[in-house]
Amino acid sequence: MAKKYAVVIVGGGPAGIFASLELSNAGIDVLLLDKGREIDARSCPIQKGNDHCILCSPCHLVSGFGGAGAFSDGKLTLSTEVGGRLKELIGPDQAKMLVDYIDTIYLNFGARHKVYGIGGEVAELEHQATLAGLRLIPVKLRHLGTERCRQVLKAMQRQLSSKIDIKLRTEVKSIVVENGTVKAIELANGERLSCSYLILAPGREGSEWLTSEAKKLKLSLNSNPIDVGCRIEVPSATMEELTSVLYESKLEFYSKTFDDRVRTFCMCPGGEVIMESTGGSDPVVTVNGVGYAKHRTKNTNFAILVSTSFTEPFHEPIAYGKYLARLTNLISGGVLVQRLGDLMDGRRSTEARLKRSLVEPSLKAATPGDLSFALPYRYLKSIVEMLQAMDKLAPGVASPHTLLYGTEVKFYSSQLKLTPCLETEISNMFAAGDGAGISRGLVQASASGVVAAREILKRIGKK
Ligand SMILES: Cc1cc2nc3c(=O)[nH]c(=O)nc-3n(C[C@H](O)[C@H](O)[C@H](O)COP(=O)(O)OP(=O)(O)OC[C@H]3O[C@@H](n4cnc5c(N)ncnc54)[C@H](O)[C@@H]3O)c2cc1C
Repeated sequence: MAKKYAVVIVGGGPAGIFASLELSNAGIDVLLLDKGREIDARSCPIQKGNDHCILCSPCHLVSGFGGAGAFSDGKLTLSTEVGGRLKELIGPDQAKMLVDYIDTIYLNFGARHKVYGIGGEVAELEHQATLAGLRLIPVKLRHLGTERCRQVLKAMQRQLSSKIDIKLRTEVKSIVVENGTVKAIELANGERLSCSYLILAPGREGSEWLTSEAKKLKLSLNSNPIDVGCRIEVPSATMEELTSVLYESKLEFYSKTFDDRVRTFCMCPGGEVIMESTGGSDPVVTVNGVGYAKHRTKNTNFAILVSTSFTEPFHEPIAYGKYLARLTNLISGGVLVQRLGDLMDGRRSTEARLKRSLVEPSLKAATPGDLSFALPYRYLKSIVEMLQAMDKLAPGVASPHTLLYGTEVKFYSSQLKLTPCLETEISNMFAAGDGAGISRGLVQASASGVVAAREILKRIGKK
């Protein structure tokens, strides 16, 4: 007979790992499942020189032990203001305490001690941003870098391996519920594993799957506004004044023409632009950025994302985002790159024009082309207006040589209805991380895993 677990955790990203760490000393049977591979077996063909994304299933970049965190830039944003809605769900004091707790654990597993975004220079930069019509959101931040991120995650896996069961390359297909209480999960190979508690932490990669399971179980879902934009690449020197103090400058702006919220996201000084495939069984290629602590390029990249709300009725933000990304994939074979000067002059970028550019693209596999074929006017207009505002703060950002890669889409998932301990409307079934629309980054994803785990420990009398 199959073993019955006290707790099953779906998803080996930061949310699942931190839930596991919290549960691992309680002397109970815990199983952590992920459909992806071991960290060392995860290697993206593009990063090994392939010139296009071959849609690995599942994508090495976002699936496997460590989740999307394994290849992330490893920026730990030590704030409850950005990176998710934990503050709203569990209260500001609890959220603040948890962020500090998560920071301590990352430090114990090898995170660097240097902290960005503190000190007097930050206030001066905030002032300068205001003069440019931008809001600078100062954030305390620790930077791991992609290589250290992997070391930290591997250290966590070593610690967990002796205390809990970890099954990789194991996809969860469905959730079994009886009389309003979770009972088991079913794997893609048909195997059924019983559990007393379930933590669902499938990340953005698994958000579509989670939404479809939630619909089957008739759970309440809220649609998140969708974030669509481009990855911008400039010479590192252009952003140096900001990145040397803040590492990541989180800037917010309301576009003049559409009054949409536009913001910078995931800044990678000295980093590389990368392709990723997301969307589970029906993947699309999107763009992202990483930054290594040692191996640095001459460029800085960051996303400019536009958040829009739609007219009612609209319940398919993920389908909409995928549709836009697929359009870019259709005309470029993956990711498209264009110089800002070409976009403004209404012409496509070509290999020859890119060669003349002062910014050498770090993503060699991107196809030079015209973003206006792929992105609706509303998004492009807002992105250009944001770059022009940023140019007053960091002169050169709106240079004709600035590169725009499309499309960056953040599938922030539908939000499940949750209690303050992150329990769903199904008894003993919890959700954590990006997949359930709770978090949008490593720290809050990790913290949400801890919240769910602590509640389980309380219920079984171990806390
Ligand atoms: C390139 C890149 C750079 C990033 N940089 C940063 C950064 O610098 N700072 C920051 O804070 N955030 C960053 N992020 C975001 C960060 O990685 C995520 O917010 C975080 O990893 C979310 O954690 P999670 O545990 O919720 O989900 P994930 O890390 O996405 O993990 C979910 C896991 O669940 C698994 N899964 C999904 N469905 C199933 C299923 N049905 N069965 C079994 N397994 C399943 C997936 O394979 C995946 O491994 C970056 C992301 C990317 C992709």
